[in-house]
Amino acid sequence: MTLSCGPVFKITIQNCLILGSFVLLSCAQSGKTAKDRKMKSRLIFFMIAFFGYCKIVKSGSKGTYRSSKTINYLCNSLHIPMSEEKSLNFLEEIIEEHLKQGTYKSIVTRFPPEPNGYLHIGHASSICLNFGLTKKFPGYTNLRFDDTNPETEETEYVDSIKEDVRWLGFEWKHERYASDYFGSLYQFAHQLIDKGLAYVDDSSSEEIAALKGTPTEPGKDSPYRNRSVEENRDLFTRMKNGEFPDGSRTLRAKIDMAHINMLMRDPILYRIKHAHHHRTGDEWCVYPMYDFAHGQSDSIEEVTHSICTMEFVPHRELYDWLIQQLEIYPSHQYEFARRNINYTVTSKRKLLQLVNEKYVTGWDDPRMPTISGLRRRGYTPESIRDFCDRIGVAKRDNMVDVGLLEFCVREHLNKIALRRMVVFDPLKVVITNYEQQEEMLLSENNPEDEGAGSREIPFSGEIYIERDDFMENPPKKYFRLAPGQMVRLKSAYIIKCEEVIRDSDGNITELRCTYIPESKSGHDTSGITVKGTLHWVSARHALEAEVRMYDRLFRVEDPADEEGDFKDYLNPDSLQIVNRVYLEPALQEASLGERYQFIRKGYFVLDRESGANSLIFNRTVGLKDSWTKKGG
Ligand code: ATP
Ligand code: MG
Repeated sequence: MTLSCGPVFKITIQNCLILGSFVLLSCAQSGKTAKDRKMKSRLIFFMIAFFGYCKIVKSGSKGTYRSSKTINYLCNSLHIPMSEEKSLNFLEEIIEEHLKQGTYKSIVTRFPPEPNGYLHIGHASSICLNFGLTKKFPGYTNLRFDDTNPETEETEYVDSIKEDVRWLGFEWKHERYASDYFGSLYQFAHQLIDKGLAYVDDSSSEEIAALKGTPTEPGKDSPYRNRSVEENRDLFTRMKNGEFPDGSRTLRAKIDMAHINMLMRDPILYRIKHAHHHRTGDEWCVYPMYDFAHGQSDSIEEVTHSICTMEFVPHRELYDWLIQQLEIYPSHQYEFARRNINYTVTSKRKLLQLVNEKYVTGWDDPRMPTISGLRRRGYTPESIRDFCDRIGVAKRDNMVDVGLLEFCVREHLNKIALRRMVVFDPLKVVITNYEQQEEMLLSENNPEDEGAGSREIPFSGEIYIERDDFMENPPKKYFRLAPGQMVRLKSAYIIKCEEVIRDSDGNITELRCTYIPESKSGHDTSGITVKGTLHWVSARHALEAEVRMYDRLFRVEDPADEEGDFKDYLNPDSLQIVNRVYLEPALQEASLGERYQFIRKGYFVLDRESGANSLIFNRTVGLKDSWTKKGG
């Protein structure tokens, strides 16, 4: 893995480190005794480690980024290219061992979203992990919709999830739904009843809760626990046939009300819900609980490695118990830590609130941490996969700095974005000695990519530059435009500011400049060197557009962890609209799939609300990390 900084810089850093090490080691060797030398070497080693650590903390904003990838991150911080070889994560180690031992010839994983919202960046971790494992090892991954809650699930969500997984670059082997298995699950429930391992309970949910006990006290048996197999079979069949109202009865596993794991205290397997299901319609009025659907669906699909997040650790015992009692394919559950990023929320329930209460314009609002929001904002699948790869797989929950996600997208966009000139806050410059009407100048599309070619830009005697690229009384070492000072216009000529024009209130309205005809970029024979280069657009040819500048959705790192309502912590400046910016004409051809770098401004993408006569661009990310500087 390498960073995109230029090779010269990389070599310089490497050389510095090598040189530094030699100097330090030769210092160490200067000790009088072997003990002395050993002590000095240790001291120097710790000094290097300490400075490396400081660098990590400094660059990971507030030091929130902690992971097993510390070495990787250290190398990135110091701009040291790493070798392509990466160590295996703990799941890869387990699978490698399984394949080596012959436990499995190939593996099956699944990504199991509940279709009750759009996917977010946390889900991307799980997708990259599950699909990534079967890219690395022989086997395949299923997409399984965990659709056992009819009230909250919708086809719109199913469609968006499929679109997002594909957009991220993954293809599933089978598209499955827990609802495909409602018939089998119902049969499984009957098998447990027949074995005396499940019973119908007439208690209300409050009564069940009251008898559940606490982590330190055992629960108490329900008065319905010892019903006969026949009675249970009859009642469960009648539950399924719709004879009882919602909430009046449940089917519970008969395990142990004194079990140390509360989830093993006769967990509910089925509840009655007369609700319309997005796929099965009104066919069912009993629906399986997550714990009864998930493991059994894994087993039906012969999933070898069922990977979920850490909150399911206590569920594993029940997962194994059910599979064992039903004597079905022994899938196994493995857990990894949830991945959350700061300055946002990644709970579908909270994201839904933001959508429903119109704090954002929809699930794909470019400020949302959803995959569709990130896509609309201009993120690329490559950058999200890179992010997931860098944060890796851990066993402990942690908060990842959103700066790392921004770093990944900046890295990728630097390689692929077409460079264009756009002026946000125009100041007119009249070039008094330019006698032609106009001319076309050539400019490269992307200096990082020779294959990207070049484009023509019209130049004329009236152009716009950024207002803040001019200063009337500049400090020393100000290399932009000032009275009597010269700058280069990108891909054009060197100009010199001759006169400042003001309106009656004293505001600067225009600059009068002269240009050096011999200084044309690529053919410069003027012999003049200037330090500043400005972007510009020809006033007559410029197009107008709206630009939407996005910032973090929340003003605190972990809104869900603050007192009161998480929505109180929304960042009021998360969207700023610049109504009219001036674009070079090539942007008339801007397309939704293309990414652009507005030179010196940041990375931008066309918004889907854009029309031929009303261009709208979203800012994906700035050129540099400006948030840390703001002290956010
Ligand atoms: P949410 O809190 O967003 O509703 P969820 O777990 O209820 O999350 P699911 O649709 O069930 O959402 O998630 C599908 C898969 O993605 C599950 O295996 C889940 O463990 C995983 N997942 C969800 N959120 C994250 C996250 N933040 N980091 C890693 N994996 C996640
Ligand atoms: Mg879930």
